[in-house]
Amino acid sequence: MGEDVETLKRRLPLLEYLRQHHWTGHPAGRSEFVGLCPLHEETRPSFYVNTRKNVFYCHGCGQGGDVIRFVQLSRRLSFRQSLAHLDPQTIPAVDASAALESAAVFYQQQLDHYPEALSYLNRRGVHDPTLIRELDTGYAPGGSLRRHLTAQGYSFDLLRQSGLLNVNGSDAFYQRIVFPLRQGEQIVNLYGRSIGAAFAHRFMPGAKGGLYAWEKVRHCSEVILVEGLFDYAVLRQAGFHNVTCSLGTHLNTDQFHQLCEGPRTVYLTFDVDANQSGQLAAEQLAHRLDAKGIDARRVLLPEGHDPNSFFVQGGDAPQFQSFVEAAQP
Ligand SMILES: [Zn+2]
Repeated sequence: MGEDVETLKRRLPLLEYLRQHHWTGHPAGRSEFVGLCPLHEETRPSFYVNTRKNVFYCHGCGQGGDVIRFVQLSRRLSFRQSLAHLDPQTIPAVDASAALESAAVFYQQQLDHYPEALSYLNRRGVHDPTLIRELDTGYAPGGSLRRHLTAQGYSFDLLRQSGLLNVNGSDAFYQRIVFPLRQGEQIVNLYGRSIGAAFAHRFMPGAKGGLYAWEKVRHCSEVILVEGLFDYAVLRQAGFHNVTCSLGTHLNTDQFHQLCEGPRTVYLTFDVDANQSGQLAAEQLAHRLDAKGIDARRVLLPEGHDPNSFFVQGGDAPQFQSFVEAAQP
């Protein structure tokens, strides 16, 4: 992968990229060009491009680097997103997905070896071993993924681009329960839930994909939509099979279109929290779905509850079902 980045930079030199984006520079020496800096406001040129080294440096704002760095700064993208922007073909999506797949397998292997992970699952009401396996549930202890994956031949660059390692090269997920997110068969992202308090929810960079396990429910005439994977897991465990999850209250375009694929009733079961944010999001979503001819109903759980806490605190399937039946359009 390191080689691919170098190939990309040779194939699309910085100067050429800048010119494609209407930057004008004037020769300033053997292999240098100078012009106005695209990264900060200025009237006198202080942005230098060295065509031999294929890098830039601005004496005004102090920024410098290669074409990827330039895209990161000018478009506020991550390293990986910048590569994709420069050349979607160059990003080995297959490699990145393979790395996520290998990481997911590694995390699954860890789960049983960490009592703190199992007790966290238990605390969140998830205990059915079959379901835990079915969801490919894993645990990221932190600190051991890099060695494992580099030993499997994954390059540091690829692991960094995929987000599995952070910029300083350490594991991005640390003490997190991990659920792989798939689009069809392919893993497109990983969700990591901290078993501690800090930064509860984390994803890898890039899209989350569509609704969780949508292919299982796409033909259902009634679908229960929940915010979080722990809501999803307890409902599945309680015997509800027409459940899907949006991983947050704000649906992306793909997720919204999925719900609108055919005529159906969608039961929006978002958190009933004190600040009303879950219910507000549900209300807005219900309006948008109604406008598309989808029968959207809001399930109102008791104050302060989400489906997960409802079951964890002793709620059962018939009680939940009665809330679903009482859902308001
Ligand atoms: Zn500048």
